[in-house]
Amino acid sequence: MKDKYEELKQKAKEAVKNAYSPYSDIKIGAAVLASSGKIYSGANIENSSYGASICAERTAIVKAISEKEQSVTAIAITGDVFDYAYPCGICRQVMSEFMQEDAPVFVSGNNLEWKRYTLKELLPNAFDIKAWKKEE
Ligand code: ZN
Repeated sequence: MKDKYEELKQKAKEAVKNAYSPYSDIKIGAAVLASSGKIYSGANIENSSYGASICAERTAIVKAISEKEQSVTAIAITGDVFDYAYPCGICRQVMSEFMQEDAPVFVSGNNLEWKRYTLKELLPNAFDIKAWKKEE
């Protein structure tokens, strides 16, 4: 799995250059390891109507799920930024929809060592309406 995670981090780095960010000039790349073992990458895609912009993490996850992947087992996020490219709140929520809470989340930035977290560390007590409906 270690080699697969290294490949995942490399794919995230490569995706940075695909960012479309004429407004923020911030370039982020992400890659997800899907349940099939395939890797999908994504970049942030901005829009002149700012609310229509989408983050790199969600781009990668949506690509995977729309190709009929069942879940995401790991994600790597990086960017042309001088601090760690931590995922925003919306992306953490989307990650919780398709990832187990113990799934690894790798985060980096320009010339920074990768840090490894679990999704639960980044999103404790996640909002999960499915849990509300579970019968005892
Ligand atoms: Zn985000």
